[in-house]
Amino acid sequence: MNSPISLNLTRADLIVSHNFIAGNWQPSLETNPSTLAVTDPSDASLIAQVPDSGAADALAAIDAAQHAFSDWKATPAKERANVIRRWNDLILAHKEDLGKLISREQGKPLAEGHGEVIYAASYVQWFAEQATRANGEIMLTPDRSKRLMAIREPVGVVAVITPWNFPAAMITRKIAPALAAGCTVVAKPAEDTPLTALALVKLAQEAGVPPGVLNIVTTSRERAAQVVDVWLADTRVRKISFTGSTPVGKHLAKASAPTLKKLSLELGGNAPFIVFEDADIDAAVEGLMVAKFRNGGQTCVCPNRVYVQTQVHDAFVKKLAARVAALKVGPARDPSSQIGPMINPRAVEKIERHVQDAVSKGAQVVTGGHRIERDDAPLAAYFAPTVLTEATPDMACSCEETFGPVVPVTRFDTEAQVIAQANGTPFGLAAYFYSQNPARIWRVMEALECGIVGINEGALAAEAAPFGGVKESGYGREGSVHGLDDYQHIKYFCQGGLG
Ligand code: NAP
Repeated sequence: MNSPISLNLTRADLIVSHNFIAGNWQPSLETNPSTLAVTDPSDASLIAQVPDSGAADALAAIDAAQHAFSDWKATPAKERANVIRRWNDLILAHKEDLGKLISREQGKPLAEGHGEVIYAASYVQWFAEQATRANGEIMLTPDRSKRLMAIREPVGVVAVITPWNFPAAMITRKIAPALAAGCTVVAKPAEDTPLTALALVKLAQEAGVPPGVLNIVTTSRERAAQVVDVWLADTRVRKISFTGSTPVGKHLAKASAPTLKKLSLELGGNAPFIVFEDADIDAAVEGLMVAKFRNGGQTCVCPNRVYVQTQVHDAFVKKLAARVAALKVGPARDPSSQIGPMINPRAVEKIERHVQDAVSKGAQVVTGGHRIERDDAPLAAYFAPTVLTEATPDMACSCEETFGPVVPVTRFDTEAQVIAQANGTPFGLAAYFYSQNPARIWRVMEALECGIVGINEGALAAEAAPFGGVKESGYGREGSVHGLDDYQHIKYFCQGGLG
């Protein structure tokens, strides 16, 4: 293996190569410890090695989190909030370094990496504020001799398991509410992007998060189950907060049933994007560009199926294809790149398979449709931004998340027809539609089966808004005034003998 490349960070020590357990940065505790190489997906150059942890590390993390729980739970909410607020300040103070780290280990363009830092921090600030508002209630009594009260308590140790596509935001969206609620955390980031998570934990340590309150272990994909199985089986872990694919989410729900853990599952999507004949077509094209091509199409809420009403279909496709063909594809280190490399070779193979399947079933390639070979990208990590027309429901790109820069367009005739098609999926995370007819806007918004609807808007996420899905896109909401609920239970007190 070659020696690591330099990212020229202002603080080189933000690249960490250890687990963090009980306040200590340490190598894996396994009998034969091994490491995992973290690479730049554009050219496979080595960035750092991190522990390929196993069951011993997973167990040590729970021991530490359980030990720290009673004191963190008893820490006044205002003190917890101050620590979380300092974490927010440190994340923002290191925006340049963190953005660079995100973009190099995940592949998104540098500007998007910086944008993700701000987005990730917004949840930290939000939950620092929410921490101090988690009040209880006094209920009206049905009996003169009794008084009824309820308080919110932290559930206990929370296991946080995150995907690679938002290496910072997926971590903060879970850890900030957990800490705000008074829970302690054991976390496992994705194999492809552990470095951003480790850097964020380092800043949390500097912000004053006490030893044991926040623990993180890194693993390879092969050993992920070894770590997570320990957390699933242990009765001390009271909650799993997971973002990732639906199959893994279903596995976690099943495997945590014997210990009845609380679950938040932010799973896969298959978002429809509908353009009605009464839409502002230019705005719809812009909205689709924003929603679809962020992170090269590797987002859970990005439109996977685009439905355009017959009257405006050809005009929409023409404008869209011109915009898509102009996108600049290249590595994150090139500031002019708009679409980076896909996360790994498996991802490129899946996108290619979806396009080939669509074409074999009658789709037309309007632009793109192929890998991009570059001399500096030995893994053929890039896929050309693509527009397909004549997409049909039997194509893989209509039924599964493509997770890449591919837009399959289907023409439709009536509102009823497109609603049935949009809802004809087991998933229900995001949906988008463009229309200028107020009556239609209300009808369609209410008819779509999903957790998030974009109406004449392609950028939906905000820390003040509840983010989450329905159907097989999971359950639980992140952000908003509801975001703490998943990390708390309600305890009811009834005091008698007062009459
Ligand atoms: P994934 O394969 O399900 O992995 C997610 C996390 O689970 C990773 O940390 C992964 O570790 C771990 N994992 C994998 N197999 C496991 C097992 N058998 N037991 C325990 N843990 C396991 O998903 P992904 O490919 O990283 O992410 C893409 C998916 O996430 C897409 O479906 C996307 O829609 C979804 N997503 C949803 C949201 C949302 O808010 N709803 C947001 C972002 C992404 P390794 O990395 O080591 O495999």
